[in-house]
Amino acid sequence: MMNVTQSNPSDELSINCLHERTAVLGGARNIAYLFDMSRFMRSVRLAVNPARLITRGLSEQWNNLLNRNKKTATDEITGKAVAAYCGLAVGDALGATVEFMLPSEIVHAYGVHKKIIGGGWLKLRPGQVTDDTTMALALGEAILNKQRFDITDMAMAFDKWLKGKPVDVGNTVRRGIVNFRNTKRPISPESEHDAGNGACMRVLPVALATYGADEELTKRVSRMQSHVTHNNDYSDAAIDCVVSMIHMAFDGDDKKAMEDGPVAKLLEAFPKYRYDKKHQHNPSAYIVDTMRAVFQSFFHTQTFEDCLIEVVNRGGDADTTGAIVGMIAGAYYGLDSIPHSWLKAVDRDVIARCRYQAEHLIDFSKEFATNRLM
Ligand code: MN
Ligand code: MN
Repeated sequence: MMNVTQSNPSDELSINCLHERTAVLGGARNIAYLFDMSRFMRSVRLAVNPARLITRGLSEQWNNLLNRNKKTATDEITGKAVAAYCGLAVGDALGATVEFMLPSEIVHAYGVHKKIIGGGWLKLRPGQVTDDTTMALALGEAILNKQRFDITDMAMAFDKWLKGKPVDVGNTVRRGIVNFRNTKRPISPESEHDAGNGACMRVLPVALATYGADEELTKRVSRMQSHVTHNNDYSDAAIDCVVSMIHMAFDGDDKKAMEDGPVAKLLEAFPKYRYDKKHQHNPSAYIVDTMRAVFQSFFHTQTFEDCLIEVVNRGGDADTTGAIVGMIAGAYYGLDSIPHSWLKAVDRDVIARCRYQAEHLIDFSKEFATNRLM
């Protein structure tokens, strides 16, 4: 565990969740274990000697699933996790073409925009993704590399990401990272102006890695990743809602349960998020606008494809509404629901990294929910 001085007792900086076995293994073996964790855990836990490891006290979700059918359950969650990650990348790549366009301009240029063709104001290659996906990948790497949740790891990963000259950077994101660079403090000061969607768009790795953990712990981890750049109640609340929806999709809950659960909770605490009043067209990067478009498109369509087409054709911050609803809809409808032509169109390397991280973050979630060492 990193020894970081806490500036504020409520700001948690690190949660170490190394498996005891990992912790006692040294150097090279430790690294090999981390990199081959998915295959290793599956083979050891599920095939060779399941009882020994499972009886360590997996969380309720994992226990229920594993009791039902060990192999299928793990594969099922991993499949949904891969779908969520690919959904994020697909939504980002599809939406980026029409980012900051008005719906009327989209109609004029494309009729209905539904192909991953690149272009847009960023002049992207076909299949290229933007900050939404690449920041999520940076965050996932920060968690997987050290097998822990640590805000300094996360801030350093974002800093490295920014130094890599990403194709696009939001203002709040840049300010937060530069603040970390200058002050070495990984937490941005609280600000009512930080209600952008930049922390929500990259939350997926945390959602995957905290699956099966209790709600309070999940929130603490969510705050770490988001507060590097966005320290704001509206952003926090939307992120909690998105993470819950993804976890519920993994559990097989339906949309009604999501609306009655985390969405209702969000609307009660922050009525501005109500999305039943008027159609949110041209959603801005303000998290409230973004989430209204996300809710309307997810709850008012029946397939992954329709949902994504519906949201990006609203224009505005289309890559980010696409990315956020892409993760939720991916988790909900599963990998088979994502049009093959879209999956094929996205950068191959990006899809491979999404898959890899999704699988390993789900393996990590089992470790985390089971063997957390504080
Ligand atoms: Mn973007
Ligand atoms: Mn965007």
